[in-house]
Amino acid sequence: MYRKTWMEVNLDKIENNLKTLKAICNKRIIAVLKADAYGCGDIHVARAVVEAGAQMIAVSSLDEALVLRNEGYQGKLLILGASEASDIPMMIKENISCTAYSMDWVKLAIRQDCHGLNVHLKVDTGMNRIGFRDIHELNQAFSLLKDAQCSMEGIFTHFCCADSDIDLTNKQFARFKEAVESIPYTFPWVHCDNSDATAFFKEDTSNACRIGISLYGISTYAKDLEYPISLYTKVFMTKHMHAGETIGYGATYTAGENEIIATLPIGYADGFIRANQGRKVYVDGEYATVVGRVCMDQTMIHINKDVPIGTPVEIFGEHISLEDMANELHTIPYEIICLISGRVTRRYIWHHQIQDEENSRLVKSLQSR
Ligand SMILES: *Cc1c(COP(=O)(O)O)cnc(C)c1O
Repeated sequence: MYRKTWMEVNLDKIENNLKTLKAICNKRIIAVLKADAYGCGDIHVARAVVEAGAQMIAVSSLDEALVLRNEGYQGKLLILGASEASDIPMMIKENISCTAYSMDWVKLAIRQDCHGLNVHLKVDTGMNRIGFRDIHELNQAFSLLKDAQCSMEGIFTHFCCADSDIDLTNKQFARFKEAVESIPYTFPWVHCDNSDATAFFKEDTSNACRIGISLYGISTYAKDLEYPISLYTKVFMTKHMHAGETIGYGATYTAGENEIIATLPIGYADGFIRANQGRKVYVDGEYATVVGRVCMDQTMIHINKDVPIGTPVEIFGEHISLEDMANELHTIPYEIICLISGRVTRRYIWHHQIQDEENSRLVKSLQSR
């Protein structure tokens, strides 16, 4: 890596978080690694969660599933989202499980050779996204797929408010239980709990939990989770301002007497969005403020004392939590980490050592040289 802006991903801590949650729910764990493991690098996180005991990995699309297969992950792999029925031959060939989510999909699917396709039925219990709302239709879909020689591997639902509304979660769960019990068949995989439900919701209908965000230490209920990810950059220039001079596009900030401004190689193209203007970063033992507009590739901060070129700057991590950053930006931690772009180098720590520094775009370009 040449540009000094990097996201640190501590895979040991991700493993510990998985083990903590597995001990709480005492069920099999499906690690949800969609969107490149929430921006953290799917194959790296995959290796760690498998080592920690995850027995299935879930992603959102066939494209994401194929990335993991191509990178060498050979274990159980489920597409949670919608897939095209026309892609069934590929899913069979690569042994990737898919989700049956509507009668339209089922009808298209059974027109093809489905022999050996692993299917999880999606029950919509109130999220109203994908899935069967009607139990009769769900049963019909089950029979059609089973008759078409699909392997009926699982049944699942997704809670919309596990972090905030226990009554609604209970209602959704009751519908799910009813749906599962309406089908005279024992599914190998029955799953409904996301991270937050895994940490507090006690039920014995499901036999596996799907955890995503809590791998990264974020949880409404679980204590004792660790924070594995941090985002850093480095100061590459400082300058002393005269009173009245302005900073950046739009001249939105005017310096007072003897202000020191440091420039950082991070901007909105890295996922450090413009709404960060006015927020804090942490540098050389104290907090500093982002002043002026965040640019595409650079950001200016106001510091109280001059620091050497190359001084590290924490965007979030030990001193600024991801949760605080999300609150200040009126969003959720998921969005912050998913937005950290491919331009930012990922530094992996695993087995207490720096394993790999990866800048995916640079790596790809070197491979094609
Ligand atoms: C994203 C997702 C999850 C994981 O949710 P977290 O809140 O990150 O644990 C689980 N199930 C489905 C269907 C999802 O889309």
